[in-house]
Amino acid sequence: MENLVEERLHALTLLQVLGSKLDEIIRLRGSLPEEVGDLEDDLEGLETRKSRIEDEIKHLKDEITARKNKIVEFQGLIKKYEEQQNNVKNNREFEALRKEIEYSNLEILTSEKKIEQFQKQISDKEELLAQTTVQVDDKRKELDDKRQELDVIIKETHEEEKRLHSEIERFSGKVEPRYLQGYVKIRNNMRNGLAVVSLDRNACGGCFSIIPPQLHIELKQRRKLIQCENCGRILVDETFFERAKSEMEAAIGA
Ligand SMILES: [Zn+2]
Repeated sequence: MENLVEERLHALTLLQVLGSKLDEIIRLRGSLPEEVGDLEDDLEGLETRKSRIEDEIKHLKDEITARKNKIVEFQGLIKKYEEQQNNVKNNREFEALRKEIEYSNLEILTSEKKIEQFQKQISDKEELLAQTTVQVDDKRKELDDKRQELDVIIKETHEEEKRLHSEIERFSGKVEPRYLQGYVKIRNNMRNGLAVVSLDRNACGGCFSIIPPQLHIELKQRRKLIQCENCGRILVDETFFERAKSEMEAAIGA
């Protein structure tokens, strides 16, 4: 017949085994979720740049259209002035029209120069746009690949993860809150996520500091919860792990 301490230690060991399995799954995903996030940010930045260049090109094209309209307008005026020149009454009128024609020609020339400048700017921007489009496509491809990679891993481990979570929840309910909180606190504090460990020869399986012989005896007796004096981890006899592991395998089919 198990005593209460033994039951508690068993539940804590089982929680540890389940928790470590969950850690392993998450480790398998590695930095993929983070990489996906970074790629999403990069892609968004590139797409913003691309649409800004497109806007700039559109704006320049509008400017060219406006300039072309202006040229047509002045060409019309010149034609009108030239006709008027044929019907002038005096030299002064002729001269005034000549000045108008000269002014209109200058306006046309200015617009032609502007159009040339705008066209040059457009061709520069189109080159930049082509480069950016390639970058966007490459980045999107990279992101799709990474997402797929992550999806596969998540899908593969999804069922197992779900079962682990539900088992963890089930066994958490079997440990008194005081001990459960203690366990969670230690586990969260440890880089390797180990709160319950067995002995590794004569040392703590977590921090490898030597455990005094007296505690070895107490561990075997299973009468109280023993913590490593150095790291605070809960120490249990190896048999707890053997039992917990086989129970976990039975529960989640891992
Ligand atoms: Zn220790």
